[in-house]
Parts: sequence; structure tokens; C-alpha cells
Amino acid sequence: MEKNEIHIIYGTNPRNMVYDVLTQAHIAAKLRPGMHIGIKPNLVVAKPADSGATTSPQAVEGVIQYLQDNGIENITIMEGSWVGDSTKQAYKVCGYAAIAKKYNVHLVDLKDDQFSKKTVGDLELKICNQALSVDFLISMPVLKAHCQTLITCALKNMKGCIPDSEKRRFHSLGLHKPIAYINKALAPDLIVVDGMCGDLTFEEGGSPVQMDRIFLAMDPVLMDTYAASLLGYAKEEIDYIAIAENIGVGSGDLSQAKIYEHHVEAKNNHTFRPSNRARQLAAGRVTAQAACSACYGSLIHALQRMSENKTLPAVKQPIYIGQGFRGKARNGLGIGQCTSKCRQFVKGCPPAAKDIVDFLENPHFTPN
Ligand code: SF4
Repeated sequence: MEKNEIHIIYGTNPRNMVYDVLTQAHIAAKLRPGMHIGIKPNLVVAKPADSGATTSPQAVEGVIQYLQDNGIENITIMEGSWVGDSTKQAYKVCGYAAIAKKYNVHLVDLKDDQFSKKTVGDLELKICNQALSVDFLISMPVLKAHCQTLITCALKNMKGCIPDSEKRRFHSLGLHKPIAYINKALAPDLIVVDGMCGDLTFEEGGSPVQMDRIFLAMDPVLMDTYAASLLGYAKEEIDYIAIAENIGVGSGDLSQAKIYEHHVEAKNNHTFRPSNRARQLAAGRVTAQAACSACYGSLIHALQRMSENKTLPAVKQPIYIGQGFRGKARNGLGIGQCTSKCRQFVKGCPPAAKDIVDFLENPHFTPN
């Protein structure tokens, strides 16, 4: 397989599809006996894959079976869930603890790992040592929507390989530039995208859309450009794709890509478009500055719940969220510890969606 190739396989059995597409792309030619291989899924929250938030454990099984059938014994699954969520809980809920036992592979919570500093351009990045130490890194993102960056796929998946403090800092840096830069310091060797059922409204799942496909690529810029186009976006609309291309992470030139489709008879021919529900809920209500994904996701979920409960019109004051409001007085409602100088705020870092609902429906509410 070459760096300008994208393979897409269609179907409904992710384990068999992954095994098949790895075989068709001759990935075994890239493996050496004794290699230590890392698999980095997207387990942003502790929700099963059918929620649309996390990588299918069956897809990961397909990779492990393929690697083991080709003589690879040293395999580590590694992830660090988003700020405020437990990776270990995600490993249990998403079926990864069972897989690790069944195939005798290592399971690492990158939140427990030490980090090394890497400099890319004018940015110093902290990256978890276990992710840096493997001989071959396989990134396994879910193709889904993101309420701050529009989509999340290969480039953004690497954000799970940094400490929580660094995740918060990424948001304070505007997210796009550090997402692009981390891929210069820690490039995946192979990308297997779970495009079976991603959430095209919320990153953290709950509104899954059945897409029934797996993508294989080596270039994260090419992969994300293709993924963006599938969802109706040009690469220029996703800032981190353009930045990554500019600093030489890869190429977003789809005209030079070789695209191979497998099992087209099983193709789900629907058109997939992200919902702009998250933006609708925030429009005219929310002012965000450097908000962490988990915090912003909780707020959007809370607003969605209030919309369903028909309590949203009662929120008359502006809502502030994000690290940009630390120490800044605002005459409105604050979400999370960073907004403690707002006239009223809900505690938590990040606060739970339920606490946000209770607070916005009754601003005098204070969670325990
Ligand atoms: S309160 Fe929210 S925005 Fe602030 S650091 Fe915590 S999670 Fe991030």
C-alpha cells in the first residue's frame, strides 16, 4: 500500500471487513517479526460503539486477528479518554477489556503514562511515551461530527495520545493548530477508520448514523480530506486539515489519490451530512472561548435536553463557557469552573449535562 492510496470496504461485519481490507492492501508487507504495534482507537467517552461515539471493538478485533495471523505478538491498545471521563471505564463498557483478555494484548490507559516534549515549529507538545515508543502505530478513529471542529477523524484522533493537561491547553490554543502539529510529531503508520455508525451530530454519541464502511489509508491528511468530502465539506472548511497539509503532514490532493473500493455491492448509497443541530442550539445563546470538548459537549447535550423538555426559552441570559473566561467577570451564566467570575455559574470541570440542565432551568441551583 502506498501513501496516496485510500481503500474503502463496504458491509455490515466490521471484524471481517477490517481483516479483508488489510489483506487486500497487503499490509503484511509492512510488518516485521518482533515489532511492537500500538492500536489507538477513539474511546472519547465510556459509551458503546452503537452510540456513534467510539470505535467498534469488532473492528479492532479484525486488526488484532490480522496482525496475529501475520506473526505479530506484541500488541498494545492505547487510549486516553477526554478530560473528565475514565479510559478504564471506557475499556470495560466498550468491550476492550474482554478483547484484551481474549487475544492476550496489552491495554494501556494513556492518562497514567509519562510524557516527552516534542517541538514542532513554534509549538512545544507533550506526548505520551507509550504512544511514542511503539514501532508501528495504527490509528482507529470513528468518522463523526464535532461541534467545534465540524468533523473528527484521523488527525484529531491523535489528541488521545497527550496528557489531560495538554488536552486543556490544546483548547486554549484554538484546537486546530495543535491538532495539526501533533501529527507532525506523532504520525500514525496506518489509519483504519470505523465508518460503520458515527454520530453526525455530537462527538460524544447518541445520534448514530449507519454508514456501513471501513476506510484504510496511510496519510491522515488525505484520509481526513476524503472523509470531509464524504460529509459535504471541502478541506479548506476544516482548519486543521489545511494547517496539517501546509506543514507537510501529508497531502490533501484527492485528484492524485488512488481510491480502491471493495465489496461495492454492499454499499450504503445514502448521502451523509452532519446535522447542524449543535450550532443551532448554541447560536445567539452561547459565547465560547477555548472550551474543552467535554465541557462544550455537556452544554450542547444540556441544551438539547432542554429543547426536548421545552424549557429552553426560559434561558434569557447569555451563557459563557471556556478557559478564555478564567478570572473574567461577566454578567451572565457561566458553565464550568473556568467561569467562576460570571454572575452565576455551575461548578465542575467539566460539569455534567444534568447539572447544567438543573442550573439553566434554575440558576440558583448548586450541584454537590
Ligand atoms: S471548566 Fe470546562 S473549559 Fe474549563 S478547564 Fe474545565 S473542562 Fe475545560
